[in-house]
Amino acid sequence: MNWPADYHMHTPLCCHAVGRPIDYAAQALRVGLKEIGFSDHSPMPRDDFDDWRMKASQLDEYVAMVQEAQTANPQLRIKLGLEVDYLPGHEPWIRELASRHPWDYFIGSVHYLDGGWDIDNPKKLSQWKQHDPDEVWELYAARLTQAADSGLFDIIGHMDLAKKFCIYPKRSLELIFSPFLKKAAERNVAIEINTAGLRKDCREIYPGQLLLKAAQVAGVPIVFGSDAHSPEEVGLNYSEALQAAKRAGYSECRQFTSRKSKTIQLSFE
Ligand code: ZN
Ligand code: FE
Ligand code: FE
Ligand code: ZN
Repeated sequence: MNWPADYHMHTPLCCHAVGRPIDYAAQALRVGLKEIGFSDHSPMPRDDFDDWRMKASQLDEYVAMVQEAQTANPQLRIKLGLEVDYLPGHEPWIRELASRHPWDYFIGSVHYLDGGWDIDNPKKLSQWKQHDPDEVWELYAARLTQAADSGLFDIIGHMDLAKKFCIYPKRSLELIFSPFLKKAAERNVAIEINTAGLRKDCREIYPGQLLLKAAQVAGVPIVFGSDAHSPEEVGLNYSEALQAAKRAGYSECRQFTSRKSKTIQLSFE
């Protein structure tokens, strides 16, 4: 099987993942991947922003760990990425991060709608009860549109992350995300087929099948990711991810090197 690259994996620097990059690389080879990429949670301008990411001073250590995994595994292609939180106003910080290392790609993810509420944090589940789900989803989609339009990101992470706890809006997700998908296609920004959703309450890949179909129709490119927070999650549920891509009508995905994309034909057997 010629599996697509796994572009979404974490390291212990974010304080909620286990296993070193060399362990993730070993697992990638075991499951038959030829290319992977690390995309740990980016530091924030202030280290006390939250407790689930590396500190700004650890960025060099992160890059060194990824390079060490590459040196130890020459038979695997290992890309250097970062999962960067998009918050309006953080653009100069994100540009500064981009200038610090020879990144292959940036995944732009929205976890925070404001400084205080990371919508996928189980400890903040009570916040969902204090908000109108329709408003949260609309704001989430608007943020993604802004992220795609910012020119700061190659890939947008887990586009329907707001479904994690099975709280859905009344309006259809295809309608809510239609401006985002249009913008992503126009700015040549990819979305990821992220299998971590299968391991959450929603039990569904990010994005769901109808949204993925809408993305295909809109002409939005795709990459694949497991969002692994431990070595055994590398490449997890990739058969389901490939099937989802196929059902949505995709025949190709993207690869990134030095923040330039290349189109790769998908193989389904
Ligand atoms: Zn994480
Ligand atoms: Fe994320
Ligand atoms: Fe992640
Ligand atoms: Zn993630």
